[in-house]
Amino acid sequence: MSANRYDIIVIGSGPGGFASAVRAAQLGAKIVLIEKSFIGGTCLNCGCIPTKFLWQALKLKQKIQRSYEYGFKVNSEPITFADIIDKKDKNISNVRKGMELILSSYSIEVIKGCASFKDKNALTILNNEQSLEIVADKIIIASGTKSSSIKDFEFDGNKIISSTEALTLIQIPKTMLVIGGGAIGVEMATIFSGFGCSVTLAECEDQLLPNEDAEVSQEVEKNLSRQGVEVITSCMDALNSADKYEKILIVTGRSPVNDLGLDKIGVKTTARGFVETNEFCQTNIENIYAVGDIAGKSLFAYTAQNEGSIAAKNAVKGNSSRVTNNIIPQVVFSIPQSASVKVSGFLNYKNIVLGKFPFTASGRAFIECERTGFVKCAIDKETQKPLAFWLVGEHSDELINTASQILASDINHISRESFFHPSLSESLLNAYEDALGKCTEMPKRKI
Ligand SMILES: Cc1cc2nc3c(=O)[nH]c(=O)nc-3n(C[C@H](O)[C@H](O)[C@H](O)COP(=O)(O)OP(=O)(O)OC[C@H]3O[C@@H](n4cnc5c(N)ncnc54)[C@H](O)[C@@H]3O)c2cc1C
Repeated sequence: MSANRYDIIVIGSGPGGFASAVRAAQLGAKIVLIEKSFIGGTCLNCGCIPTKFLWQALKLKQKIQRSYEYGFKVNSEPITFADIIDKKDKNISNVRKGMELILSSYSIEVIKGCASFKDKNALTILNNEQSLEIVADKIIIASGTKSSSIKDFEFDGNKIISSTEALTLIQIPKTMLVIGGGAIGVEMATIFSGFGCSVTLAECEDQLLPNEDAEVSQEVEKNLSRQGVEVITSCMDALNSADKYEKILIVTGRSPVNDLGLDKIGVKTTARGFVETNEFCQTNIENIYAVGDIAGKSLFAYTAQNEGSIAAKNAVKGNSSRVTNNIIPQVVFSIPQSASVKVSGFLNYKNIVLGKFPFTASGRAFIECERTGFVKCAIDKETQKPLAFWLVGEHSDELINTASQILASDINHISRESFFHPSLSESLLNAYEDALGKCTEMPKRKI
């Protein structure tokens, strides 16, 4: 085998490419991973990790300010936002080192440069002026997505910015217009307004988080408004007032990164440029797979990781594992967080009963001094099987994983003794029992 020949080439080191490379190496393949920017992709460098770090910093600030609720008297120094950004960057750099360690522990070669197809087995890697050709039996594309701008409002990196630039600002702007009330828009509005920016959040649909349950969306909107964010829904002309704002943050969607020369080798893409794949993560070209955002099925780090592991196994062992994406929890880091999860085909269930448990009735929520929000549960009336959970409240991002496992285990009953007391996860049980009309933790229902 020549030095530039591999079993599998993986393009992109985000969650999809990283999982593909490591899993394929675990299965004994000789792997090379190509990355044109920083190891870790969108998730680590300008997505999941930096947003949640800033969110966590804001939570800590609010906890310190509210510590009087426990009887503390704390005089906190004014915050220097640049210090928080500096700490974020240091932490990200440490995570990146950890990822590099994992790659080298599996003897995965990493080549820095921009990959493009020469033919269906060969890639050219360009790094500055240098060019390298590499060849493999199989190729996994995990090139991800980038922020989409709006017609006539191109990003200029200064006033009109994407989430990537927003996460590197070292000073909180005085005013910001956030266009797009999806998960990223809500998170950005939460973070920037929490650190003192006057934020307007504009969404063209008639509710924030347009794909979310209306009651969850209303609660999130209420909490954002309480925090001082001006929320405008059904808003088609937000940009007319663009001059009023110091920064305009556009978070209306993501578009595929596919400057890989896919048309040269005939890889089919959708009208929007996402790579078409089957349930094995395979493209129409037999030896080429695509995973994560670039495949456009669901734009999350954890689904990208799942697809990466599946594609790696199929590429090494032959197509045997399928992506089902049956149960995918979703979380938004508002304050407090919101989250939801449903069984697949939820809308086909016609005989549904809802139960609800407010955190004001939870002992643990009292202990935490965090009593905003609720858990809502849908069950099938006939079988009593839990079908969906929606949450708004502290630690919803963790609680939703328990809810997911309940739904994934396909059970018809949740039992009291399997939930520790006092815990917030008891609220899942209480909402479920409320749907059954037998929650003992709330007053009798008025009929
Ligand atoms: C602000 C924000 C917050 C988010 N928060 C969350 C969250 O909380 N939870 C969650 O699950 N998801 C979140 N996401 C989405 C998540 O980041 C993505 O779904 C995930 O990163 C997709 O992984 P990926 O491997 O498909 O692509 P990416 O992570 O985008 O990685 C693709 C990599 O490929 C490289 N690349 C592209 N083209 C080439 C080429 N030609 N040659 C070499 N390298 C190339 C890129 O440089 C990049 O490093 C968030 C996204 C954003 C923008």
